[in-house]
Amino acid sequence: MKGRKSSCYLGIDIGGTNIRLGVVDDKGKILLKKRLPTLKEQGKKVVIVRFLKAIDSVIKNSKYTIKGIGIGCPGPLDSKKGIVLSPPNLPDWKNVPLREIVKRRFNLPVYLENDANCAGLGENWQGAGKGASSMVLLTLGTGIGSALILNKKLWKGKDGFASEFGHVSINPKGPKCKCGNRGCLELYASATAVARRMKQTLKKGIKSKVFKSTKEKITAAKIYQAAKMGDVISKRILDEAGFYLGVAIANIVNALNPEIVVLSGGMTKAGRLLFDKIKETVKARAFKEAIRGVKIVSGKLGEDAGIIGASWRVKNL
Ligand SMILES: [Zn+2]
Repeated sequence: MKGRKSSCYLGIDIGGTNIRLGVVDDKGKILLKKRLPTLKEQGKKVVIVRFLKAIDSVIKNSKYTIKGIGIGCPGPLDSKKGIVLSPPNLPDWKNVPLREIVKRRFNLPVYLENDANCAGLGENWQGAGKGASSMVLLTLGTGIGSALILNKKLWKGKDGFASEFGHVSINPKGPKCKCGNRGCLELYASATAVARRMKQTLKKGIKSKVFKSTKEKITAAKIYQAAKMGDVISKRILDEAGFYLGVAIANIVNALNPEIVVLSGGMTKAGRLLFDKIKETVKARAFKEAIRGVKIVSGKLGEDAGIIGASWRVKNL
């Protein structure tokens, strides 16, 4: 259409709390953003209707011509078939043919991809791992999501379940994980795990300068703020998380020798309080030759990584 900017894509990041939409141009720049609460408790049908309305309003009201829609959604999902299988974050979304639903409504190319893979593609296209030919992304959130880029391509494995680094065991005798394994990384270093660790510590009667009771809302974000204020217990808990991340990243570095490891999620705002321990542990454990060139950094795109990566995915169908 005359006057419309060509080659734009709609990138969508469906999360348990919010759904984010963004119009992204073919250079990876976000031109327009929209966010709506997921309100998953209203049930799948209501959420999907609201989601389709939001897409409709972006397409109709923006001056951009949308060439395709990329959707990042919590896994497990089957991106070949475009089906959301059974994400723990969206409890009643069982076998939802989301790609077909969106495709039929808007008559555009649609691609459905795991949300962590989208974040990885976003950081690799426009963020901290821009241009890297091999990159590992770990997102520290409720769990630990991850993505693996090898030779500039997303590596998904034979059945699409590759790079579940959050479920790499770092303690074979550790607690049982919902995946069936024991001692998975996400039980030790996700934002949820860090908050849980603080509660356990307080229950033992160990005093924190900031947190007085296990009844108050304790989050990883509050813990790193407390650590910055000098709370010894908060520092120790972040240090532990950094140690476990370092153990896992040393294994990843020895296995893959990547160019860069990108960590994202709110917890990475802790900066050196987290990264110093990670780097120290990796240095002590991985092959010197493999770590010499590897960068371990925080993501650059924050919450936009998923939108940008989802757009890249549909742009490069
Ligand atoms: Zn697990």
